Amino acid sequence: MPEQKTYIVEHLDPELGPWSALEYRAIARETAGCKGVFMLSSLPEGFQVPEELKQESAFRAETRGVEELYPEGKGKERVCLLDPAAEEDLNPDDKRDFDVFLFGGILGDDPPRDRTSELRKKGFTGRRLGTIQMTTDTAVRVTRMVVEEQFTLDMIPYLDHPELKFGDKESTEMPFRYVKGKDGKPIMPEGMVDLIKKDADKSIDDLF
Ligand code: SAM
Repeated sequence: MPEQKTYIVEHLDPELGPWSALEYRAIARETAGCKGVFMLSSLPEGFQVPEELKQESAFRAETRGVEELYPEGKGKERVCLLDPAAEEDLNPDDKRDFDVFLFGGILGDDPPRDRTSELRKKGFTGRRLGTIQMTTDTAVRVTRMVVEEQFTLDMIPYLDHPELKFGDKESTEMPFRYVKGKDGKPIMPEGMVDLIKKDADKSIDDLF
């Protein structure tokens, strides 16, 4: 059993927008810290991977999909799909049974549209990270804490639906679960708060 774990996000959206780019760079950086691999699979041929992501040492770009990489009888049984609809929660002993942790490359949506079902129907073993929708980088962070650091899900400090305040008047409620950082704030990728603020300003401008 390899000690090094692979975290795969299967690319399912037509493009990789700025929000996903920040999330994926955060995943790549944190995965390097635990000597793992972060792979973005199923990328269309000739896909332009953002430069900042390419530079991360743990990052691998892959055009093959996860079914081709881990076919039946050749590794599929060692792949765990993180799935909000799975019956069993992820637990520290899953470190023994799985080498690869698979996530849907989907932006969070409210209400969730269950696009993780596109991977579920491929028949990978599923594990849940509780019932509340997380951002993709949070889902990878929590998985790593359980698998690499042997936390149980109930030991992890969370922040659900935090409100981000910008200045005196503006605020946005994020419809996701995050891990609470040492500073008491939700752990978010570098640059994300600015991007959310920019998006919020844009939607306010659209009203006029
Ligand atoms: N709304 C989405 C959907 O349509 O399924 C959820 C997308 S979520 C932002 C991206 C990925 O993070 C999911 O495909 C799943 O792999 C993982 N994820 C997020 N929350 C999870 C949870 N509570 N349990 C297990 N996996 C989760």
